[in-house]
Amino acid sequence: PINTNLSFKNQGGFAKAVELCNGSGLCRKRTGGTMCPSYMVTLDEQDTTRARANMLRSVIEGTLPPEELTGRRMKEVMDLCVGCKACKTECPSSVDVASMKTEVLYQTGREHGFSMRQKAAGHIRRQLAFASLFPSLYNTVAGMRLARRAAGLAGIDPRRSLPRVAKETFSKRFPELPQGAGPVEVALFNDTWNEYQRPEVGEGAVRLFAAAGARVHLPEVVCCGRPMLSEGLVDEARKNARRNLDLLMPLIERGVPLVGLEPSCILTMRDDYGKLLPDDGRVEKLADATRLFEEALLELDRDLPLRDGEPVLLHGHCHQKALVGTGPTERLLGRAADVEVVDSGCCGMAGLFGYEKGHYEASMQMGERRLFPAVRGAGERVVVAPGTSCREQIMDGTERLALHPAEYLASLLDGQETVG
Ligand code: SF4
Ligand code: SF4
Repeated sequence: PINTNLSFKNQGGFAKAVELCNGSGLCRKRTGGTMCPSYMVTLDEQDTTRARANMLRSVIEGTLPPEELTGRRMKEVMDLCVGCKACKTECPSSVDVASMKTEVLYQTGREHGFSMRQKAAGHIRRQLAFASLFPSLYNTVAGMRLARRAAGLAGIDPRRSLPRVAKETFSKRFPELPQGAGPVEVALFNDTWNEYQRPEVGEGAVRLFAAAGARVHLPEVVCCGRPMLSEGLVDEARKNARRNLDLLMPLIERGVPLVGLEPSCILTMRDDYGKLLPDDGRVEKLADATRLFEEALLELDRDLPLRDGEPVLLHGHCHQKALVGTGPTERLLGRAADVEVVDSGCCGMAGLFGYEKGHYEASMQMGERRLFPAVRGAGERVVVAPGTSCREQIMDGTERLALHPAEYLASLLDGQETVG
């Protein structure tokens, strides 16, 4: 048996989790939903959910030697899995290949070492925190061709624009923002992208919560661990999960909901911490307290002073679609605008997947399948996408600025200038 670092006990262990695949091949569908983005663009059996489960089954059953778990063939089969979690929901047997890929990356890294790119990507919060100490200088350098070439040496595709940082972090802006009178309270999970790249998102969310009468806390947190899990850095992700539990439990124990702006971050806490810390009783309490920003605002059930806005074209984040659905986002945006949801599948960026050398073409094909044409045809409509990497992909593929729902709705609050 394979000694896994992630816990698969909810599925009866790793072997059982793999054996869930019954081979029916629904993961070979070419349109509709999200599973499986890689097959939808390559139409190659190797890039199906089933092929990945089959490869693992062969190692577990001994048809392939144990070293194949971390070998070249496994790497090839897993390579284009974007970790979208769609199979967890759309596959009739709920085969969770995203978690299996994390485990394979962990086993491979332990065996052969983790690359510089993997370590840098896993610790992206640290890199952006450092860059934000001198934002103007960093942004100038990041815009240079030389910087892209240098990033290329570290495994980043040079056709991608490098991430920029905001002039001022969200936590610096936060004390100046309005607060509701209470007594309702919410705690905002200050994700990496909100803190260092787009604090306007958090600012919009706080203004909306204030308009709904809520007091917003901004507890100290560390990275949720999602970038680490995507790179197989399971031990590091576990360390962060434990730290976040230590930091957040005092608020959670008081019944304060934990609100996330970036779907993949807050849903990592809801969906993945149990695989990292299966015996920690706090994990379930934290999971129960997590809310997407849209879920939390709807739950408050207050009228918001919103003007009518331009119609919206909405692209949902894969993890949101797999674990929650786009319903809450549609309902919240629907208070101010007509909303059309694109059946876009995965945008193709999938965290840092689309940045990696060797993934650029597949990543752009995934975007080009449905999302990019829909955005190009959006006309006057405002393009909204809750996911940071989705918004970056939309910019790279169509040069259209996409907004987080909090940014768009906050711009429709009385007294605010409309954006979009
Ligand atoms: S992964 Fe799911 S959908 Fe694909 S063949 Fe296996 S059981 Fe069927
Ligand atoms: S996580 Fe997404 S990309 Fe990976 S196998 Fe499942 S559906 Fe396919």
